[in-house]
Amino acid sequence: MSTAVAATTGRKAQAIALAHVAKTYDGGIRALDDVSLTVESGTFLAVMGPSGSGKSTLMHCAAGLDSPTSGSIRIDGHEISKLNETRRTELRRERVGFVFQAYNLIPSLSVEDNITLPLRLAGRRPDRDWLRTLTERVGLTDRLAHRPAELSGGQQQRAAVVRALAAQPAVVFADEPTGALDLRSAHQVLDLLRALVDDLRQTVVMVTHDPAAAAHAHRALVMADGRVVDALDQPTAPRLAERLVALGER
Ligand code: ADP
Ligand code: MG
Repeated sequence: MSTAVAATTGRKAQAIALAHVAKTYDGGIRALDDVSLTVESGTFLAVMGPSGSGKSTLMHCAAGLDSPTSGSIRIDGHEISKLNETRRTELRRERVGFVFQAYNLIPSLSVEDNITLPLRLAGRRPDRDWLRTLTERVGLTDRLAHRPAELSGGQQQRAAVVRALAAQPAVVFADEPTGALDLRSAHQVLDLLRALVDDLRQTVVMVTHDPAAAAHAHRALVMADGRVVDALDQPTAPRLAERLVALGER
């Protein structure tokens, strides 16, 4: 749904919408069990939960990397659960960005070439103004000609954030994006993600086990046993920690 349509109908655009999604792996493990959720455009959502609760499976299905066993998944209004693999890959390339714990930058390429690589692979011309806005915003303008190894971990992850946003995707999925960073760099990256959402209307879904990281989001979901069992708006680290501890004591 376009923003214009959302405005006229008085509804917010949904970057992601899952309805009754289930995922059972070969061997019978039910990793997702009737998950329904929406992510509004221009919001920052954190997904938390114990190891094995289904966070990665949720992210992979919601991002079109894997297909659910049943249920509906829409990215930017497009139903992806019925697409074949080729069409799903196309939609993902156009509308989804990724940030991983390991920055996954290509060592032999400059920062700038790393940032524009996914666009060029998709046969699209980079939007120079947008890339300039992003690189200024993350403080990498004077590092564009450098190789990744010449950057700190925090700078490399900020380059990965720019790469994820270069195509102006409907949503960016970040899987433990600060897992490899020291505290200070982690805070910078999280503040940055929040600012890109608040100021540039980007949409971020972040999987993390760290309550302090999740506290940067507008909203946090807590998963357990393949279900969403809790949701907190304007989450704080202490409140999230409390909910996670309570889960362990069930
Ligand atoms: P989390 O990311 O929260 O740790 P996952 O989504 O990775 O959880 O896993 C949820 C459940 O699905 C776990 O029981 C896990 O062992 C199982 N699982 C994950 N991936 C696979 C797979 N490819 N094949 C079979 N089982 C899997
Ligand atoms: Mg995981």
